[in-house]
Amino acid sequence: FEMEPIDVNQPIRDVFTVLGQQLRLREIRVELDLQPDLPPILGVSNRLEQVFLNLVMNARDAMEERREKGAEEGWEAVLRIRSSLESQRVVVTVSDTGVGIPEGIRERVFEPFFTTKEVGRGTGLGLSISYGIIKECGGTVEIESEEGRGTTFRLSFPVYKDTG
Ligand code: ADP
Ligand code: MG
Repeated sequence: FEMEPIDVNQPIRDVFTVLGQQLRLREIRVELDLQPDLPPILGVSNRLEQVFLNLVMNARDAMEERREKGAEEGWEAVLRIRSSLESQRVVVTVSDTGVGIPEGIRERVFEPFFTTKEVGRGTGLGLSISYGIIKECGGTVEIESEEGRGTTFRLSFPVYKDTG
């Protein structure tokens, strides 16, 4: 695998080629708000795709869990992904209206094998692998979450500058 300049919107779109149909069947509304003509970041395309795949599958699971628990009137399953340029960083946010992450476990979710899912439904590896991939791109990841409202993962990457 070679690091190369990548338009972050590409691996994001690839994820919906794979999961779009499944999300529609589960009645999850997808809102993609991708800024066109973003400057590139340095990474490996299919590894970044793996990151977004993990985040989207987690969002899906969190919203399914909320639905199974019996969500309140008017609740909607919404997955929103935004990309933008913010002070010379490429920022991607992945938001869901799922169960949320209790404060006490928020700092543990990146640990390998940490999962709250039933045996066979989660390996607890998705976020630890994703964390490693984000780091290798020089990026950072932050979580904002409120129980009963949902979760946002915020990824920030340095812009790749060709010094030729
Ligand atoms: P897995 O999905 O196999 O459990 P992950 O590493 O992807 O493993 O996630 C670890 C844990 O973090 C999950 O089991 C869940 O408790 C929590 N989590 C991750 N993303 C979300 C989310 N969007 N909403 C609520 N909880 C989440
Ligand atoms: Mg996962």
